Amino acid sequence: HRSMALAEQAKRVAAEFAFGPDAVNRAVKEFVREMDEGLQKEGTELSQIPTYVTAVPNGTEKGLYMAVDLGGTNFRVCSIQLHGNTTFSLTQSKVAIPRELMVAKTSKELFSFLAKQIENFLKTHHEDHYAGHIRRRQTGETFKDEEIFNLGFTFSFPVNQIGINKGLLMRWTKGFDIAETVGQDVCALLQKEIDELHLPVRVAALVNDTVGTLMARSYTSPGKTGTLLGAIFGTGTNGAYVEKLNKVTKLTQKADAGDYDKSTGEMIVNTEWGSFDNSLRTLPNTPYDIELDEKSVNPGIQMFEKRVSGMFLGEILRLAILGLLKDPAFPLFRDENSATNDVHSTTQIHDNSPLYKQWGIDTSFLSICAGDNSPGYRMIRQTLDKDYGVSAVSAEDAEAVRAISLAVGKRAARLSAVAIGAIVLNTGRLNPSAAKSAATTEKKEGIDPPRGDGAASDEDDVIDIGVDGSLVEFYPNFEDHIREALREIEGVGAEGEKKVRIGIAKDGSGVGAALIALVAGRVG
Ligand code: ADP
Repeated sequence: HRSMALAEQAKRVAAEFAFGPDAVNRAVKEFVREMDEGLQKEGTELSQIPTYVTAVPNGTEKGLYMAVDLGGTNFRVCSIQLHGNTTFSLTQSKVAIPRELMVAKTSKELFSFLAKQIENFLKTHHEDHYAGHIRRRQTGETFKDEEIFNLGFTFSFPVNQIGINKGLLMRWTKGFDIAETVGQDVCALLQKEIDELHLPVRVAALVNDTVGTLMARSYTSPGKTGTLLGAIFGTGTNGAYVEKLNKVTKLTQKADAGDYDKSTGEMIVNTEWGSFDNSLRTLPNTPYDIELDEKSVNPGIQMFEKRVSGMFLGEILRLAILGLLKDPAFPLFRDENSATNDVHSTTQIHDNSPLYKQWGIDTSFLSICAGDNSPGYRMIRQTLDKDYGVSAVSAEDAEAVRAISLAVGKRAARLSAVAIGAIVLNTGRLNPSAAKSAATTEKKEGIDPPRGDGAASDEDDVIDIGVDGSLVEFYPNFEDHIREALREIEGVGAEGEKKVRIGIAKDGSGVGAALIALVAGRVG
């Protein structure tokens, strides 16, 4: 009797996370509406930030570039050799950012540290460049253009981008707090410190990690068609896609927009889709979502992200499990005779179990749940015991936890399909003839012109999407759930879903940033 009641209760909770075909289609319509609104004006739910990057690579790009990545805890420096045949080699170093620099008095303290790391990197890995640099410093010569490394700067904090290598810091996040930097151009701050060390390095591009993902995928993915969308499903979620320039009216009709290449007729737009539908017109909203949001540091903000990304899914699951534990009628983890083979013992939740702490469950646990099909759910029970302080869990309990976990993961994937489907629909890529008339076709060597410039073949029909992040990489069947929902979207359907190719794009902040530096060097 107990196991039936348990299974039924788990089913009931899982059903709260249902996000069916009608809900998906309503959300897609809202996403398309917010996309268009964001292209026209500031202060909308989807920020739709113009990136000043106006072309995607096609795999033939060549050269040696540098990239740096200031994310959260680490600063990464790398050099990338693009071989021009969709492959590349990458050399990289990583250093932890000293806490005191994150909260320094002046920008200089942080940025001179970053420049110093670039110098160290050159010394270690590009001795030739570095030696030449020392010699010139002594003789007072300047660098020749071709000796200078173009560098892509991945900077994962909110910036108001006003040029391909110009962006004003809006606010620090993730534990950084240097008041002086706010409102400053972070590229200029880095360049100034690089110049003080007389390094042969030019900060050529300011890079958002989603744009890096898009560029990296477009370079490495085989085929004639450029990638449409780069998307991240990691700690957070976001996407950047190729938009027709004439739709980005908030940029094209701005008097002081700064320089960008108009010849391709396209621009990559950073959607900042984590804040899609903050006003909850179409997003699902369970009691667990509500509680998570209320207890978060930014209630009412990033509402899409709070239902989709790695930072939050574990917490949603934890709140759903807690809800059941509080319910005296529900027998989860109350097994007094949990039959683990021949040993009979009582299930116990330890007082200091992470189940009782905010953010106590990591999203990787959802992947473990989804991946454990073994009879008796050995992995799930073991993880509950080792990582979550619940000992002697019965197979029935594990099955109940798994059912809820699957529902949370599936909803996240179906929500992801909303963003992907809306972008596929709204860019007209399913309908190449429409794309053809909307785009100009001037060809630059090594850079793809807009889609739809040639005769349509099967390969031209492919809609390529690059993804990155632990959730999409490791959660079992995440892509299958996305695809199922894509087929349910009006205007996409089974036919459209088949054209969508989704592939992992690694090293967005390395090779992706290098490619943006390359594009910036060409047009800048
Ligand atoms: P980031 O987005 O910070 O660059 P990741 O792509 O590795 O880094 O994402 C980290 C997030 O992914 C964390 O929220 C973590 O909980 C989650 N995560 C880590 N491992 C897994 C996994 N195996 N399955 C699902 N989510 C995971």
